[in-house]
Amino acid sequence: MIIMKQKPFDDLLAAMETDEKVFLAGCSECATACKVGGQEELDALRGRLTEAGKTVTGTCVFDTACRAGGVREGVKEHQAEIDAADSILVMACGTGVQSLGDRLDPKQVHPGTESLFVGEVEALGRYVEKCSVCNECVLEMTDGICPMTRCSKGLLNGPCGGYSADGKCEVDPEKDCAWILIYRRLKDRGHLDKVAGIQGPHDHSSHHHPRAYRWPKPERPKKKRPQEEPA
Ligand code: SF4
Ligand code: SF4
Repeated sequence: MIIMKQKPFDDLLAAMETDEKVFLAGCSECATACKVGGQEELDALRGRLTEAGKTVTGTCVFDTACRAGGVREGVKEHQAEIDAADSILVMACGTGVQSLGDRLDPKQVHPGTESLFVGEVEALGRYVEKCSVCNECVLEMTDGICPMTRCSKGLLNGPCGGYSADGKCEVDPEKDCAWILIYRRLKDRGHLDKVAGIQGPHDHSSHHHPRAYRWPKPERPKKKRPQEEPA
């Protein structure tokens, strides 16, 4: 999921300095799981914004704010409250903010969160990055530990010479060296041959933004030609 945190409240107020009325938008997925954009958080924000002199015209936790269909449904349901607002404060990831902004143009949207990374929820309030969405996955080679993300240097051939005797990373001694984890796992499973060779450089050519993906068109069965009648 997209891990995010709320921007400081004073920054939100500064962004909405000239707006008297605001509509609050959340998201039912990552923003709710990160406790920044669920109904509970929108209600709390409504209270703080009201105390700060703003009028909140309404709130909506969109059914997945990065899904065009979910945005359309929410907007339809709350159109009058949105129309009554000077701007929309969006408590969702950057994609959710833009998804709403593109559909509500020319109404101004304000981002209410910082999108941090794609991560795993270890426990509520504890998130770790495990994938950098690199488009050329090497998890097969490493038996499921990502060196691109979990090695501080993103090394495809590791470990570097800096890991400590207790298997920690030289860049961040709080973190395990990803390559020591990989080595131990492969050794335990008898898979060390997977990393016996030198890995060539990662192909970053497909990383130009914006990235997009569409399902390939399904192959249609070829129509049979009608059998010609014998003369
Ligand atoms: S190699 Fe790492 S960053 Fe790339 S797709 Fe696989 S898990 Fe994600
Ligand atoms: S010590 Fe390990 S995790 Fe840290 S940079 Fe070197 S190889 Fe990567």
